[in-house]
Amino acid sequence: MRRTLANYDAQQLTELLGQLGEPNYRIDQVLEWIWKKRIASYDEMTNVPQHLREALTHQLPLKRPTIVKRQLSRDGTRKYLVGLSDGERVEVVGLPSKDRLTVCASTQVGCAMGCTFCATGHGGFVRDLTAAEIVDSIMLVEDDFGMRVSNVVMMGQGEPFANYEATLEALRILNAAWGLGIGARHMTVSTSGLVAGIERFADEPQQYTLAVSLHSARQVTRDRLMPGLKNQKLALLKEALIDYYEKTGRRPSLEYALIAGQSDTVEEIEALGKFASAIGAHINLIPLNTIDENDEIRSTPSARAQEIAALLRARYGVEATLRKRRGADIDAACGQLRQRSESVSGS
Ligand code: SAH
Ligand code: SF4
Repeated sequence: MRRTLANYDAQQLTELLGQLGEPNYRIDQVLEWIWKKRIASYDEMTNVPQHLREALTHQLPLKRPTIVKRQLSRDGTRKYLVGLSDGERVEVVGLPSKDRLTVCASTQVGCAMGCTFCATGHGGFVRDLTAAEIVDSIMLVEDDFGMRVSNVVMMGQGEPFANYEATLEALRILNAAWGLGIGARHMTVSTSGLVAGIERFADEPQQYTLAVSLHSARQVTRDRLMPGLKNQKLALLKEALIDYYEKTGRRPSLEYALIAGQSDTVEEIEALGKFASAIGAHINLIPLNTIDENDEIRSTPSARAQEIAALLRARYGVEATLRKRRGADIDAACGQLRQRSESVSGS
């Protein structure tokens, strides 16, 4: 177990306190100190005996991530480069709007899926984040804004369902009364379409929200755009999403990047309309954000994007929303998060 990577989750703590013969109420006490009171050292836990503080310091060291760099967008979005205890780095984004603060969190350093339009995908996979690292990075944003996080979207770097356990543990901490107390319905997991993960997620008791990055409802195009998902066939994905809706009563939403000449053609939109109406999903149309790693792809012009949204509603009866770019001026928008070296030298 990689305890040195700040992997202090509820289960590990429970095991350790059990081994030390501590009473059960200590677990909640310690968790509250870590997640609610945000201690930097176990020595701050005034109602916990000295010997236990020492044992925790040695066996489950608190190695909280730090903000290495912060960039501010004209629209209020803030992008952070977060330094992890082993020197790896990950990006996280804060998106304020009136009385809400949404955090776009990462679940992995890098990503193995290799989507051609995504900066993270071009950097390859480095490692999974631990649950503690995911939550800590969200807390850094909360502290920096001085405002409670109201919503979390797992739409930063990485594929959440390729790191299922840690992602779900992070969601539980974020949701818990001893944690950040964020309502499950205000937290969204975005997957590129790992079918086994969707099936598991359907059985989770909490009412988290599910988004699926579709980008094409035609197998050939999807295989080209998202090579890491080739073995997750669209037919199986559709089935898993229908089952998800039947089980949970919650409609998944589909993320769809509009890529000129690739995902916005007449055949593509027809396939998308049929796919979305079969599962009763809402579609978020995302203008493609530019990335240095691939300058051959372009976003669909905005007039055509609006036409597509209207067509999806009129012909297929599916709700389609055209999403705004946020933080694009600091490369903080969807798919623009990349690995450390570029992030450090950028801006
Ligand atoms: N790996 C997960 C979650 C992170 S990506 C997933 O793919 O769902 C967050 C969203 O941004 C996904 O919908 C992703 O497909 C999309 N995205 C990636 N690159 C993009 C780009 N250049 N422009 C617009 N959206 C992009
Ligand atoms: Fe990974 Fe998602 Fe980027 Fe694809 S879009 S490479 S799955 S982070």
